[in-house]
Amino acid sequence: MEPQIIKSVETMQETAASLRQMGHTIGFVPTMGYLHQGHLRLVEVAKENCSKVVVSIFVNPTQFGPKEDFNRYPRDPEGDIIKLKEKDVDIVFMPEADDMYPEGFQTVISVKELTKGLCGASRPGHFDGVATVVCKLFNIVKPHIAVFGQKDYQQLTVISRMVRDLNMDVEIVGVPTVRESDGLAMSSRNSYLHPEERESARSLYGAILMAQRMVEKGERDVSYIIKELEGFILSHRHTRIDYVKIVDPDDLEELSEIKGDSLLAMAVYVGSTRLIDNSILKID
Ligand code: AMP
Repeated sequence: MEPQIIKSVETMQETAASLRQMGHTIGFVPTMGYLHQGHLRLVEVAKENCSKVVVSIFVNPTQFGPKEDFNRYPRDPEGDIIKLKEKDVDIVFMPEADDMYPEGFQTVISVKELTKGLCGASRPGHFDGVATVVCKLFNIVKPHIAVFGQKDYQQLTVISRMVRDLNMDVEIVGVPTVRESDGLAMSSRNSYLHPEERESARSLYGAILMAQRMVEKGERDVSYIIKELEGFILSHRHTRIDYVKIVDPDDLEELSEIKGDSLLAMAVYVGSTRLIDNSILKID
């Protein structure tokens, strides 16, 4: 069946309320559209857990910095709706920015500590934009379960913290990163890559494998591992490192020595495209 397309915030709120009244459980997948297999995997998980699935498509202006790619972010609403129909999604919520942020809007949700490092350091204000829009979307869509990708590990951590801190009545589910056959994490932004850059983009997954091998072999010195990974990434053409860090997977604080399972998190420019990837480095 065709999914119901809802553009108005008010209609979405009323629809969610009546679904709840009828006894449905609502699974929610927030996205910025230009959907790929990673997004669709989140939809499957929502479907497995709930009787109704809502997917939002909203390129949220407040999470982009002034010099970032808001205007050129890829958009394909018709193609997205076809993909969501194939996954039997019940409702596609596609609000307008003016309806989400009407005149006079002034409330911001800020998760303080978890947003200081990693992408929070390179993208000031980004996670305020994310936390605020996700909080609004939760109030509009009223989900029982909301599904997020581990590809955006810091985002998943920030949202989980917000939900705990503000006693939001929604369960957050994280889903492992879906990758291309050569390991590149799927991302709407991969569409920016020229063929030569696409080759170099493999270096992020290459670095993950390299780090895992080093840790398996007993290497525990974080600065040594990072130096090796950076050298490897920079040996590929068109790459420029934003950050390569190894942090505690819970509080995202930087580590100097690997003592337990640790998170390798990276942001790398390939040409002008900023790609992120991460992986938990397991010690046996
Ligand atoms: P975006 O449209 O990029 O804002 O992403 C929407 C949701 O899809 C977020 O929860 C992302 O973490 C998730 N996501 C994006 N790429 C992937 C991927 N390759 N594998 C799994 N989840 C993903």
